[in-house]
Amino acid sequence: MQQLDIIIKNPTGLHARPAKEFVNIAKGFKSNIRVYHGEKMANAKSLISLLTLGVRSGNQIKIEVEGEDEDQALQALESAVLSGLGEEEIIKQISQKSPTIERATTSDQVKPDHTEVEIILKNQIRGIAGAPGIAIGPVYHLQRTEIKVEETFAGESKEKNQLQSAIETAKGQLKQLHKKMLDQKASGEAAIFDVHIELLDDFELLDSVLEKINQEQSAAFAWQSTIEERAKLVASLDDPLLAARAADLHDVGYRVLRILVGADNQAPEFPDHPVIILAEDLSPSDTVTLDRDKVLGFCTAKGGPTAHTAIIARALGLPAIVSAGEKIISLEDSTQVILNGYTGILSIKPNQPEIKEAVRMQEEDKDFRLQVRAESGKPAITIDGHRVEIAANIGGIEDAHQALASGAEAVGLLRTEFLFLERINPPSEDEQFEVYRDIAQAMQNKPVIVRTLDVGGDKPLPYIQMEQETNPFLGERGIRLCLNRPKLLREQLRAILRAKEHGPLRIMLPMVSDISEWLATKEIVTEIENEMGVSGVEMGIMIEVPSAALMADIFAEHVDFFSVGTNDLTQYTLAMDRMHPLLAGKSDGLHPAVLKLIDFTIKAAHKSGKWVGVCGELGSDPQAIPILVGLGVDELSVTVPAIPMVKAQVRELSLTKTQQLAQAALKCASAKEVRQLTQP
Ligand code: PEP
Ligand code: MG
Repeated sequence: MQQLDIIIKNPTGLHARPAKEFVNIAKGFKSNIRVYHGEKMANAKSLISLLTLGVRSGNQIKIEVEGEDEDQALQALESAVLSGLGEEEIIKQISQKSPTIERATTSDQVKPDHTEVEIILKNQIRGIAGAPGIAIGPVYHLQRTEIKVEETFAGESKEKNQLQSAIETAKGQLKQLHKKMLDQKASGEAAIFDVHIELLDDFELLDSVLEKINQEQSAAFAWQSTIEERAKLVASLDDPLLAARAADLHDVGYRVLRILVGADNQAPEFPDHPVIILAEDLSPSDTVTLDRDKVLGFCTAKGGPTAHTAIIARALGLPAIVSAGEKIISLEDSTQVILNGYTGILSIKPNQPEIKEAVRMQEEDKDFRLQVRAESGKPAITIDGHRVEIAANIGGIEDAHQALASGAEAVGLLRTEFLFLERINPPSEDEQFEVYRDIAQAMQNKPVIVRTLDVGGDKPLPYIQMEQETNPFLGERGIRLCLNRPKLLREQLRAILRAKEHGPLRIMLPMVSDISEWLATKEIVTEIENEMGVSGVEMGIMIEVPSAALMADIFAEHVDFFSVGTNDLTQYTLAMDRMHPLLAGKSDGLHPAVLKLIDFTIKAAHKSGKWVGVCGELGSDPQAIPILVGLGVDELSVTVPAIPMVKAQVRELSLTKTQQLAQAALKCASAKEVRQLTQP
């Protein structure tokens, strides 16, 4: 018998990919291999067993090997662990910086539920406009169909054969999903399906199911109970990363179970009348399979306007609101609502006049959309000849195609987070380059502003180690986080500068609060440009923090442009969490305090001959557009579906009148007063 104590340095510990790598190596040897962590022991050839050890980064494990090839096995496992179990790059990157340990988990914490109060008080839930259109009707919660497993035993060999064939079918489906992700250059997501396949290969899991079949349980019954037991065990380890593995187990378990009970091809059950779907979130495949005759629109608690779900909704012409928060979950089935996919507002139990108005809007909407769409290629010039550039906020290549087709004159904000989220390792420079190049090409020589990675304690990434933060929104976010991880920042900047050969890409820094952040990043960009023998990339900053707005005169001497991120600027100016369910109604970008900061920014920029865009949600708010134009905003960058409508609205405005309106708005005492000024 051979033993070895070794420290796991992988940032996520022995989870997901490193654990899979470890199991695969162990499986290559005949010896029995056990792994000890504290009091716990696992079989090294079982992924689930290994996961339940809960080994975190920095933990020591003991590997014990016994059998004919024990020397070779121990050596192979030692060198695999030392070289990072497939995560060499991430470990190297982390060891170059601070020795932080705990990841922030704030986003996983349960928030108090003030839903009832919110709904009764306001009769409205505000989310984000996901896909345009108005829907009126009863709501229906879309949930996964519960699978009832009948406990009927058809004989040992029949049940075992059924199990085997269901697992093979599931693996086939997973391989297809894996390939689809690879085809879309989403290798991080593809790796998740790899882990699912590995879970189906887990012999401990299978042994346990087979054991139950031996005791005359049906394959479905045995499978379901084993998955539940294992998932519970994994989830009970109280680790957010392991909780995600429990979700993987549920997912893959549900897939096999559906096949076992013959429910694989069944669409979810629906009432027999058309409904507005409410869901925590919808997967793209859920969205694609929604029956257009029975679904009037949908509203999700999570998700975002750039998620695939919203993109598909637009393609299907389904009005949608995304990111409406957990409060929608408490609405009862059959509650009547009006879903406004333009404003992102869900009106609960509307009264007769509200319904009448919504029906009128729906009818008008149909004709108007046709007309607006037909004119979306024309510029947005006010009746007195002032042109405003209308650009798109995008989150990927599909959006870029849609943006161009919808009349976007540029991309005012490419949120690059989509490349970094929901994966277990960061995208490589090459992978990023290919995506930025594709987007530059799709936009056919129109300018594209690429925002550098904007994540932080509020949106933790498994491969970025961070200190636990009490206030993640005031912590290491955006450019602060990237400047502390120069390799991550450099790779992204290099990828952008390389892709710039294929179209006019510009660089924009998020969450800038101090000139030093600008200067440090600018220096890195210049260094990379020199290395590459290129020059002249246009660079700007987001105005999202009051300090940046108040220092705009200084920044204006350095940058090429500003883009006002009104979502964050409102949050930081009013000191109101942008996700707070109770503050949603008050956290309004039309607050005069926010408008004064925008006004100051525009004046400072124009004085230095620089231009200003607005890329926060305020830019597509019909009540805000005249004020922003009147303040002198040069560009409005809005979600793709809003482009034709924003252009149409600007064409109806008179610059002189909007300037008077903007001045009046600056003198108002509250956002409410400003909104009263601009009531249509
Ligand atoms: C903003 O803050 O307004 C913005 C556009 O950035 P994000 O919504 O991605 O934080
Ligand atoms: Mg922001």
